[in-house]
Amino acid sequence: MNQMPPSGLGGSHQSFTRPPGTPRLPRIARGEGVWLFDTDGNRYLDASSGPVASNLGHGHPRILAAMAAQARQAVFAYPSQFESAANIEFSDRLARLAGPGLERAWVVSGGSEAVESAIKFLRQHAVVTGQGSRWKVIGRQPGYHGNTLGALAISGDDHAHEVFGPLLQAVPRVPAPLSYRLPPNHTVETYAAACAAALEAAILREGPETVLAFILEPVGGLATGALVAPAAYYEEVRRICTGHGVALIYDEVMSGAGRTGRFLAADHWPTARPDVAVLAKGLSAGYAPMGAALFPAAMVDRIAAAGGFMHGFTYSAHVMNCAVGAAVLREVEEADLTGNAERMGCLLRARLDAIAANSPIIGEVRGLGLLLAMELVADRGSKAMIPLERVAPQRVGELALRHGLALYCRRTSRGAYGDWLMVSPPLTITAEEVGELSDRLAATLAEFTD
Ligand code: PMP
Repeated sequence: MNQMPPSGLGGSHQSFTRPPGTPRLPRIARGEGVWLFDTDGNRYLDASSGPVASNLGHGHPRILAAMAAQARQAVFAYPSQFESAANIEFSDRLARLAGPGLERAWVVSGGSEAVESAIKFLRQHAVVTGQGSRWKVIGRQPGYHGNTLGALAISGDDHAHEVFGPLLQAVPRVPAPLSYRLPPNHTVETYAAACAAALEAAILREGPETVLAFILEPVGGLATGALVAPAAYYEEVRRICTGHGVALIYDEVMSGAGRTGRFLAADHWPTARPDVAVLAKGLSAGYAPMGAALFPAAMVDRIAAAGGFMHGFTYSAHVMNCAVGAAVLREVEEADLTGNAERMGCLLRARLDAIAANSPIIGEVRGLGLLLAMELVADRGSKAMIPLERVAPQRVGELALRHGLALYCRRTSRGAYGDWLMVSPPLTITAEEVGELSDRLAATLAEFTD
């Protein structure tokens, strides 16, 4: 058992995020593969890749070597003054892996920036192509697309909207399909069909000529806990968007870069390709702050011909970040990490299903590849949630640390949709490490008392 540090916050990031009196988090010393080590000599198996980011594990020698090599050449050059080989290699690799229709990459420093970039790009494209009446972006409830004001506005998170609402553009939101707690008289399939129908109704209500885009996480992240909808949902959404001239954006910040056993989660539904895809997290696997929005070449050419994209950040196409991203993508391909995500995902899924069968507090296991989640419940029969005041996800997370497991435990917006544990280890995980992760998780859940 790991010994955890005493409470006390100090002047760190934690002083913004954790109430006084909560136990201090372990202090990171170093990482190697799927393991993280703290300064007190404890080690933790990284069962969630942090927030589903560290796809290559920690201290990866090839990525560190690429960083060192790039650092000796150029770390930063402003992209409106210089282009970089790193940016060209990264963008070309990414476009090739993402497949047809997503040929051009706009590179930024994270997921929220990538989402904002996608929306501003689509809006400018509408203006330059004579469709200036289109500006509304329809999001889903629940849904999560980032924490900047624009990305939060299209995120379906009631608690965040209560607090930050006055600062956010009001946008229509439609229900996201769910798999565990469904409205009465629905199956997963009928509810997903109803959600797609709600999208079409919203577009008609708003006036199709005013709707710019619809954004969704093809496999759910924070907001729905690795939720995967039936294939018919994606196909129907694609049909509706095409029919009304609405751009379909897949937010693949969590699901992209190989995590689900395909390079994009979109690759699971080849007849429902998005117009725009947004990636981050696994794209640089935690080795650099990075995100990218992918667009069709023809759209980019139109914007360029009209004077260029009216958007950018100091750290757009950052040279070092691009070198990291290129090295990560090279490794994803050469080590077949997407294939490993599929294979290890099957193994881990079977282990999680077995744990769930023996645990009264796990209601459902879901996800694709190595983007998996377990629904945490008070009672499996009634699917009742653990009451908010019991702070169950946080307590499971703390207990897991004692068992040498770093878990990402999530409470949805004031518990409205439930609680879950993301089980999404690095894509480099081995079968033996899947076994170790599962044993530590089983021990954690067995010890948890509500
Ligand atoms: N979209 C999704 C689906 C995400 O999971 C996240 C991050 N959790 C974001 C956007 C925002 O990314 P970032 O935190 O890098 O801004």
